[in-house]
Amino acid sequence: MAIVGKDILRAKEFLDISEVIAIPTETVYGLAGNCLDTKAITRIFEAKQRPYFDPLIAHFSSISQVKKFVREFPESAEKLAKKFWPGPLTLILKKKDIIPDLVTSGLDTVAVRVPNHPLTLKLLKTVKYPLAAPSANPFGYVSPTEAFHVQAQLGEQIDYILDGGSCQVGIESTIISFNNRDIVINRLGGVSLEEVEKVVGKVKINAFSNSKPMAPGMLSNHYAPLTKIVIGDIEKLAKENEGMNYGILSFQKMYIKGDSRQYVLSEDGDVNEAAANLFSALRKLDNLELDVIIAELVPEYGLGRAINDRLTRAAAKRD
Ligand code: AMP
Ligand code: MG
Repeated sequence: MAIVGKDILRAKEFLDISEVIAIPTETVYGLAGNCLDTKAITRIFEAKQRPYFDPLIAHFSSISQVKKFVREFPESAEKLAKKFWPGPLTLILKKKDIIPDLVTSGLDTVAVRVPNHPLTLKLLKTVKYPLAAPSANPFGYVSPTEAFHVQAQLGEQIDYILDGGSCQVGIESTIISFNNRDIVINRLGGVSLEEVEKVVGKVKINAFSNSKPMAPGMLSNHYAPLTKIVIGDIEKLAKENEGMNYGILSFQKMYIKGDSRQYVLSEDGDVNEAAANLFSALRKLDNLELDVIIAELVPEYGLGRAINDRLTRAAAKRD
């Protein structure tokens, strides 16, 4: 079992000796290690059983710290960083040699972000080096949004979980890359498409790929619970699955009164609230030993797009 606490200095002690710990962010909990230390980076990949070809996101305390580690900071990247950092936005920028190739899976770019969580920002200022941190879950599974989610899955492999409460955004960061004049969203996430376009104008979306993904985070069947999940019209799916032990994940409506195998993401129909509840609800349903989870998509605006992206991936067929 890992120790769970709020002690920044204790967290620093582990990080300073190449250990990995869990850290809270506004998106999901991360599995963090010293980004400049290949021993720590190797431990991250091992604990998560993450393939080495899936690059990590580096976390920094400020935009000026990021600038010390990248070769270029395009004007549009600067605009986005100024608007959304600290916050759920990751930028793919050309890296300097000081960032180990292990972090970036050999790419000459690095994914960078300033997370918006008071404890983790304080930790980042205390340690002085950036922290490489993928989501703190076994590779391919639903991301953790509570300290106990991390404890349940990685508690045996790490020593410390910095407990920052429930993740406020609850869904991973939006990832953006810059290709000559094109601005491309590689993953829909905590900053919505509409918000991004307000700052930099029209962008391309290249976030969902079955073949040749840039990285496994873009695989169609990533972010999946163990229980089979099907998406569609809930009442129709309920009829089709009659006799099965099914659970329901709905946006706003309670379909069967008093049934504990049912989670509503937001009674008020608020996509932000739905995002914050999504992974917790999926985990709870996954723990009920159901035959199948029946889910519906949410409205396709704001964070609704990112929710639908995760639900669609969770439902994608696995071999
Ligand atoms: P996470 O598991 O939430 O930390 O997500 C990390 C994801 O960031 C990876 O799966 C990639 O999709 C993306 N990523 C990280 N670094 C790069 C990079 N240099 N170029 C493109 N995508 C990247
Ligand atoms: Mg992940």
